[in-house]
Amino acid sequence: MVIGLIKVEVLFTSSAIGTQILLKGEEEDILVDAGDGVLRDLVSRNYDFSRLSGILITHEHIDHYCGLLPLCYFMAQLEHTKPLRIVAPSGGGKVSGLVSLSTLLPLLEVERAKPNCTIVIGSFTIEPFKVDHTVDAVGYAVSDKGGYKVVVSGDTRVCPELEKQLSKANVAVLDATFPDCMESDAYLHGHMTEGQALKIAASVEVKIFIHKMDLNYYKKMSCRKRSPLEI
Ligand SMILES: [Zn+2]
Repeated sequence: MVIGLIKVEVLFTSSAIGTQILLKGEEEDILVDAGDGVLRDLVSRNYDFSRLSGILITHEHIDHYCGLLPLCYFMAQLEHTKPLRIVAPSGGGKVSGLVSLSTLLPLLEVERAKPNCTIVIGSFTIEPFKVDHTVDAVGYAVSDKGGYKVVVSGDTRVCPELEKQLSKANVAVLDATFPDCMESDAYLHGHMTEGQALKIAASVEVKIFIHKMDLNYYKKMSCRKRSPLEI
C-alpha cells in the first residue's frame, strides 16, 4: 500500500503471537513493533536490512517486542553499521534487556518514547502519544516530508489521544483484537473491537485493522479469567 511517500506493510499480526508493521520511506524504513517471527517475516521478503533506521515499540507485552533479539543479532551478523534507533515507552526496561543480549550492536541504546515529544528519524517525524492499555503504552503518529500521516494505535481501548491523532491522519493502523460481539472482553483486556476501531477512524481515508485474536486459542487461554490480561 503506497501512501504518499510512506508504504505501509503489515508483516504479520495476531494477538498474543506477534505484530510487526513496516513503514517504508523513500530511502529508509521504520518498524513498528517486533513480535514473534519478525526476522523471518523480513527475510522471507528478501528485505534490505540496510534500510532499517528505527524500531518503535508500542509497549512491553511480549508479542510486541520478543522478536528484537533475533532481529538485532541477525543485523549484527550483517555488520550493520548505520545507527539503529530503538524507541520504547517507560524507558523500555524489558526491551533494553532483550536488546543487550544481542551484544553485537554497540550503537543500540533504547530511547524513551515521551508522549507529545517529537522524534526525527531520517525523513520521518514521529510523535508518540499516550494510549489506554493494561500497561504503559503509546501509539505513534508518523509523518513524512510530504505531510502524510500514518497513525499506529498499538494495543489500546478507545481513548481521546488516539481520536485526536486520527482526526488528522491519512492512514490508521488500528487495534481490532476482538469481534464486535465481545466488547466487554475487549475493554477488560485493554483493546478495541473492529466496530469501535471503524467508528473512531470514520474520517480516515485508509483503515488497516491489526492484532486480531484467534478465538480458537482465546477460548483455551487461562488468561481469559484474569484481569488485566497480558495480551
Ligand atoms: Zn498488549
